Amino acid sequence: AKEQGRNNLQYFTSALNAAAAERLTLERELRIAVEERQFELHYQPQYAAGADPRERPCGVEALVRWRHPQKGLVPPVRFIPVAEETGLIGVIGDWVLDCACRDFAAWKAAGIAPRRVAVNLSAHQLRNPALVDNVGAVLARHGLRQGELELEITESVAMSDPAGAIEKLQALRALGVDLAIDDFGTGYSSLVYLKRLPIQVLKLDREFVRDIESDANDAAISVATLTLAHSLGLQVVAEGVETEAQRDFLVSHGCDMLQGYLLGRPEPAAVLEQRWRAQD
Ligand code: C2E
Ligand code: CA
Ligand code: CA
Ligand code: CA
Repeated sequence: AKEQGRNNLQYFTSALNAAAAERLTLERELRIAVEERQFELHYQPQYAAGADPRERPCGVEALVRWRHPQKGLVPPVRFIPVAEETGLIGVIGDWVLDCACRDFAAWKAAGIAPRRVAVNLSAHQLRNPALVDNVGAVLARHGLRQGELELEITESVAMSDPAGAIEKLQALRALGVDLAIDDFGTGYSSLVYLKRLPIQVLKLDREFVRDIESDANDAAISVATLTLAHSLGLQVVAEGVETEAQRDFLVSHGCDMLQGYLLGRPEPAAVLEQRWRAQD
């Protein structure tokens, strides 16, 4: 037994070392990626509930990707947490915001823009005292107007410092920015509390959409969220809509907007532009 324990410990220690080494490599490579701008944005469409997904969407969400010179396209789940911990998300987030607004301005100039572009905001960015000034400068630089930029903040980020968040979010509203609560239902907030935040949109998390037809609890949570959100004057965007049955359920219960593989995957701007031009 003692021998067994020693072996386990040895295994455990080397696994820990491997994880630590991997984490260090990731951090080092991420710093290089920031310096060398190895990031790109993909955009996923958001459609109004009854809309035809062959047409130009109502909005798009900007999703960052890291084009690693050897490893190829790295998804955000692999590097956003490390970027958060190291503070590198600040520079990455600034780049994402600028790039999304620049792309949107180009779409407007070409007469093919959707109504708005949504950008994800991290906890680190929301804590940054310069956030509101930064956003204002980016909007001015690219000539974005009221309602054309939407910022998505996760429930837990907004609720970690509600008082501080309210003030910043109000200042962003004053700039003409729309605000969405992301991943709704995964945190601990109550809608009553949430209503104190100056938000317009609530994004129902994929978690509840996945089994919406088969799991009575998920269906009940989704319907209750839609009812409450609407009674508080909020629009609801459902995330992760993959099947027609999910879409039909959501639409029949009054969901305002849909996002998910059924309607469109995240794609590079150039691919979308080509399609939107052809649709004109
Ligand atoms: P999120 O904000 O909840 O974004 C939606 C994620 O769901 C995206 O993953 C999208 O590709 C994926 N998705 C969309 N439709 C479907 C579907 O029908 N089925 C399934 N299974 N998945 C779907 P992605 O692009 O890998 O991003 C993951 C997360 O990384 C995002 O979750 C967001 O929290 C974070 N993220 C992405 N870009 C940024 C960014 O620029 N800044 C910050 N701070 N976070 C970002
Ligand atoms: Ca999001
Ligand atoms: Ca989300
Ligand atoms: Ca999610």
